[in-house]
Amino acid sequence: MSQEIPYKIYLEENEMPKQWYNVRADMKKKPAPLLNPGTGEPMKAEELEAVFCKELVQQELDNDTAYIDIPQEIQDFYKMYRPSPLVRAYCLEKHLDTPAKIYYKFEGNNTSGSHKLNSAIAQAYYAKQQGLKGVTTETGAGQWGTALSMACAYLGLDCKVYMVKVSYEQKPFRREVMRTYGASVTPSPSMDTEVGKRILEAHPGTTGSLGCAISEAVEVATTNEGYRYVLGSVLNQVLLHQSVIGLESKAAMDKYGIKPDVIIGCAGGGSNLGGLISPFMGEKLRGEADYQFIAVEPASCPSFTRGKYLYDFCDTGMICPLAKMYTLGSGFIPSANHAGGLRFHGMSSILSELYDQGLMEARAVEQTEVFAAAEEFARVEGILPAPESSHAIKVAMDEALKCKETGEEKTILFGLTGTGYFDMVAYEKFHDGEMSDYIPTDEDLQKGFDGIPSIPGIQ
Ligand SMILES: *Cc1c(COP(=O)(O)O)cnc(C)c1O
Repeated sequence: MSQEIPYKIYLEENEMPKQWYNVRADMKKKPAPLLNPGTGEPMKAEELEAVFCKELVQQELDNDTAYIDIPQEIQDFYKMYRPSPLVRAYCLEKHLDTPAKIYYKFEGNNTSGSHKLNSAIAQAYYAKQQGLKGVTTETGAGQWGTALSMACAYLGLDCKVYMVKVSYEQKPFRREVMRTYGASVTPSPSMDTEVGKRILEAHPGTTGSLGCAISEAVEVATTNEGYRYVLGSVLNQVLLHQSVIGLESKAAMDKYGIKPDVIIGCAGGGSNLGGLISPFMGEKLRGEADYQFIAVEPASCPSFTRGKYLYDFCDTGMICPLAKMYTLGSGFIPSANHAGGLRFHGMSSILSELYDQGLMEARAVEQTEVFAAAEEFARVEGILPAPESSHAIKVAMDEALKCKETGEEKTILFGLTGTGYFDMVAYEKFHDGEMSDYIPTDEDLQKGFDGIPSIPGIQ
């Protein structure tokens, strides 16, 4: 051992990333392109520009440029809450009595409480550059909506958020945070949109879903002059922006000569995990180093571990482009007792392709064991983790306990994506013994798979 590793490794301002890293540039087999649902042809830039900001469309379609400059204004915004700390979990190691060395990259140190702000500011910035009036989006648990509201307030853009109705009702404080930052928040499905009306007619009393809120937000963006739609996960551009997490982690580790053996992240749409692993995966793809990557998902929404790798709709209203991804079908809605986030039916095309090539593993965990891990972690490391993040904590702890059995001194890095202050109803259920696990049966999943489209000549 050379020097003692501090509890927290920070980067100096001049060591922070000035460019994002695009892992697609190092993939020999690229992720499959988005398809036009009408024609089955790859989406052209002009078609995407009706929905998304111009510069973001360029980033979405760019499979070749490895490094993309982070505009100075975004770098300056990042400086308000970045670099995020890379923490050596000495207390957790001691608690687990493991020879493993555990590190986590903590993204919860900003008001939105998650990593989502890293992409929100980028997307809002390009909308502003294009001279738009505002942006529309969906939010489930509310982290993305909050992050986007903050970014829009900073840049003086209007922000319209469609919030899944059940969360709108269960998380009034999240909603008020968004309104504090000037966003308008509408429960979805709503009567504001044609697609919302259609969904309400077909499913009266529905409490909504992410896929449904996406359809509404897209409709509002495409029917209002000066608006575009932005999305907080899944898309290639979002993984690109989130690469700042991995770049900072790698720079901090390199500073102390640390090399992780295992890198773990929770996976909803795949953006934090994709961002965390990108620079490490780049080394693996170029044959410069090897790492074990583990995606962790809820057993109640098992896109990687039980989904199909096919083209599917990203939204319920089937108005978005088709993406090739591990999917449970756009009609899949996790069981009502599922409390832990990560409930999108599909997964980033980049991560889906890497997983399909065997470059990454995936594990599914049940929510009661996730909350038990969250609580254990909170008590020794102090941070109150988001349920989503706790999926990664659970598997990081499992890996560290394996090292205890084998005596291996592995270095484990995991992404701690956010804090759980708005998730106390879920914690309450856990504490009161009212939380249960539900794993969908094969028949449950089949219903979702039945809704995956067949596309002539493709699938
Ligand atoms: C949104 C969110 C996630 C999951 O989204 P990804 O795109 O898969 O990263 C994980 N953790 C927190 C705290 C989130 O807000």
